[in-house]
Order: sequence, then structure tokens, then C-alpha cells
Amino acid sequence: KLYNEVQDLKGNIRVYCRVRPFLRGQNKKQTTIEYIGENGEIAVANPSKQGKENHKLFKFNKVFGPASTQEEVFLDTQPLIRSVLDGYNVCIFAYGQTGSGKTYTMSGPSILSKENWGVNYRALNDLFHISQTRKSAFIYEVGVQMVEIYNEQVRDLLSSDGSQKRLGIWTSSQPNGLAVPDASMHPVKSTTDVLELMQIGQSNRAVGSTALNERSSRSHSVLTVHIRGTELETGAALRGSLHLVDLAGSERVDRSEVTGDRLKEAQHINKSLSALGDVIFALAQKSAHVPYRNSKLTQVLQSSLGGQAKTLMFVQLNPDADSYSETVSTLKFAERVS
Ligand code: ADP
Ligand code: MG
Repeated sequence: KLYNEVQDLKGNIRVYCRVRPFLRGQNKKQTTIEYIGENGEIAVANPSKQGKENHKLFKFNKVFGPASTQEEVFLDTQPLIRSVLDGYNVCIFAYGQTGSGKTYTMSGPSILSKENWGVNYRALNDLFHISQTRKSAFIYEVGVQMVEIYNEQVRDLLSSDGSQKRLGIWTSSQPNGLAVPDASMHPVKSTTDVLELMQIGQSNRAVGSTALNERSSRSHSVLTVHIRGTELETGAALRGSLHLVDLAGSERVDRSEVTGDRLKEAQHINKSLSALGDVIFALAQKSAHVPYRNSKLTQVLQSSLGGQAKTLMFVQLNPDADSYSETVSTLKFAERVS
């Protein structure tokens, strides 16, 4: 295989943890992060409590500290991304509470700041660039879909009319690897195409919500890159896909404080994140039954979870002492699936 530089891992699931820095202008508060090791260890503690039993140690495939750059994060992700050109399905998602850096890791702070581009722009550019320039036995075509899952409804983020239409999901054989066949498909022929699409997707994500940030923290966005390779000599076709997912915030919502729409949103988020956890847990356990059917999220991602597919989870952490209990619950979610 040309691009598959990734060693096969247990169950093809890997977990990277990333701790975001304290933000500029934010009073430097106490941190919960006690220690970050070279080999993927991370220890957290509640600064307001004393005692040894307060320290909790976790281990992942890798931990990126607050000083890590977008470039570093991408370089450790690139081999996985390139395996799409060999016909693999890959799923990369960011999990964590709102404000922990999910969008920063996946997209970056701004589309205009190329230096700080996140995984998705870099991945698209890399795949596009390499598929056009590297000599290989294949000709590649790259196409992109982008959907949002909100309250268990799937919406196209790239349709020209900013469509509010609810889309169906193919749960059975997924012809052509398209889980959401009615979401518009956009061929990508240049870096400019990529940027334009991302901008459309981001602005459509804001439709119908008062504040972009609010809505985006309560919905999952799924960017899917489809690769089709045609072997020059034989005409044989090869397909791979890459799902890049910015998940809804994982924070537990206090039931006594929310009602109505907010409560419904919270329940949908809860349900879909635990469904995702259950699927990955079942895969990590090599369980015979993988419960894909329990949420729209896992149905949309099904082709890139399990089988030969490769999965990478970014576990995002906010270093604030105030976030301690969310941090521990995020780490426990990740520990269960790694
Ligand atoms: P989430 O998507 O999880 O709600 P964001 O990605 O929006 O969180 O991050 C919250 C804030 O922290 C944003 O202002 C973002 O720019 C900043 N931020 C997150 N991660 C980093 C990082 N690694 N370096 C610098 N700033 C970051
Ligand atoms: Mg976000």
C-alpha cells in the first residue's frame, strides 16, 4: 500500500488527548492538569482538594499539551488521513465539553488564519494536493459533503438554498459509501474550492440560531471527504472516505435547571454521545454486536467505525480548575473506549 503508513492498532481505535492553554485575557486560574508524560500519560487533580487519592492517572496513545501547535497535531494525524487514498474509511472526531477546544482542533480559530488551520482544512488540502501531484497508479477524485445533526435530525450544510430539509440515512448497505445520499456532494478541484465550501458550511450552521456558538455547541457537524481512485491500467475503482466530526459539547446539563427545548437538546446530545461511546466500546471489545442503530450520529458514521475502518478520537480538555468534574468525566469516557 502506498499511503498506509499506520501500523495496525488494537481494534484500529486510537485516542489522542489535547489540553488547551489558558486563554489570553483569562485570569490564570488554578489548573487541574498535574502531569503530562511523554508516552501518553496524563494526571489530573482537583486543586481544591488535598490528598493522594485525589490524583487520577490516564493513559492514551498520545497527549498534546497546551503548547502543542496545529501543525504538530496534524502531523500525527496525517498517516491516518492518507490511508484514505488506499481505500480505507477513517473517522476523526473531537470530544469534550464546550470550550475545551474541539472546534479549534478540527477547524481552527478562523479560516483566515492559515497558520492555525485545524485538522479538517489541512486534511482536505493534503488529500487534494497529494492525490493530484504524487505519481501513482490511480487518478483520484475528491468530493465533499457536510451535514449537521441536531436533535436527531440530519441537515445539509452545503446545499445552495441553506436547506432546512431533514435528510434520511442509508443504514443498510450504504451504496457508494454514502450514508446520507441526499446531502449535496461537492467536487473539490482546488484549495480555493475547499475554503469556499468550508465557509458555506460554517455560515449555514448558524441558520436558525441566535448565536453561532450556542447552536454549534449543541449539534454535531460531520464533514465527509469522499475519495474515488481509478486505476489507470485496469480502470478498477477504489473508494475511501474520511469523516471529520466536531461533536456537540459533552457537558452534563443539570436537569433541574433546564426545561423545554433545552432539555430536549440535552437529552438528544446525551443519547447520541453515549451511543457513540457504546459503539466504540463494542468495537474495542471486539464484540459481535455493535449497536449502530441507537443514534443518527452512529448511523451516519457507521461506514467509518469498525471493520477495516480507522478511528481517532481527540479528547479535549479545559485546564481550568472549575472544569475538574467535566474533565474527569471526559477522561473516563475516553478511557472506556481506548
Ligand atoms: P469547543 O469547540 O470545544 O467549544 P473552542 O474550539 O471553541 O471549544 O475553544 C474555546 C476557545 O479556546 C476558543 O476561543 C479557541 O480559540 C480557544 N482555544 C482552544 N484550543 C486552543 C489551543 N490549542 N490554542 C489556543 N487557543 C485555543
Ligand atoms: Mg465548538
